[in-house]
Amino acid sequence: MKSLTTADLLLEWDKRRPRSRQRQFGMSELGGCRRRAGYRLAGVEPTNDGGSLPAIMGTGIHEAVSTVFGQMQADGLIPADDLVEHEVEFAGILGHLDRYEKATASLIDVKTTSQRRLDKLKVQGPDRGHLWQTHGYGAALISQGLPVRRIVIDYLARDTGEQWRYVGRFDPQVVRDALAWVAEVRSTELDYLPRDFQPDSPWCEHCPFRDACWEGAVDGRDPRSVLYVEDPDAAGWAAKLEDARARKKAAESDEKTARGALDALRPNDAGVEHVAVPGFGKAIRFTVTSPERLDGTQIRKDYAAAGRPVPVKPGKPEVRLDLVDASDDVFVPGGSQ
Ligand code: SF4
Repeated sequence: MKSLTTADLLLEWDKRRPRSRQRQFGMSELGGCRRRAGYRLAGVEPTNDGGSLPAIMGTGIHEAVSTVFGQMQADGLIPADDLVEHEVEFAGILGHLDRYEKATASLIDVKTTSQRRLDKLKVQGPDRGHLWQTHGYGAALISQGLPVRRIVIDYLARDTGEQWRYVGRFDPQVVRDALAWVAEVRSTELDYLPRDFQPDSPWCEHCPFRDACWEGAVDGRDPRSVLYVEDPDAAGWAAKLEDARARKKAAESDEKTARGALDALRPNDAGVEHVAVPGFGKAIRFTVTSPERLDGTQIRKDYAAAGRPVPVKPGKPEVRLDLVDASDDVFVPGGSQ
């Protein structure tokens, strides 16, 4: 029998949890990938395990919070009518809210993330999906007669332990937006639902429908080749690529121009400084570092002086795609040449 690693055991623990076996569309999937939501709503059987170690670490944190909450409630330190890990349903969507504090009418959710992502959340606020999910829980509680005025999301960085708390008012419009999204997914045929993430993204990597979603791709080619199989319009895809590159070039140029202009405000030549931008709603953080880079030319010279070849290791094949002038000697897909 193969020796099991800690990761193997954690993934197995996750697989065995009743929540991992949930097949119904859940509130945590609101605002995520529309195709994944479509698979759930259509009752398609998952084709992949979908577990991930970062998510399991988050589950462990939820379990710890739930355990101590139960203990403190039993000791009379937390009001008996506060809720923890509580199952709710709203508009046919199942959810498990983390906590509800009745005295402050607060719905409290915990999200684990990385410090890098936390830094972005602190500036940009919670993702649309997180707001839809927590408002879904709130709507479910309100429909049960419990007041919900505040939506609280505690973001915890797994790598640094930093916590950032988002507090907002419960907004019925957010619930309406979420339900409109679900209605649109429901009314679209599964085959026409967009794949909202890239196959090499963490979302697809840990998606329970990954194989079903990307199956049909050309053998030995990029999983996205399934898009061509479904819509073999070479000219259309080439035009899309050309248009995307033009927009990217324009956006890069705009970014360079704006960065250069704003450098006028930079107060520092090293380290980190924040500068207020009145009337904009966000500040600018200037980070100045002087990274050391390997000097390739010197390395090559040193190896040559020592009479040894520079060590290299084989990389993954890279595919470059350029749009060039059409000419007679090009390969014609499906043509006789
Ligand atoms: S594999 Fe990716 S694109 Fe496909 S359903 Fe899952 S998350 Fe969406």
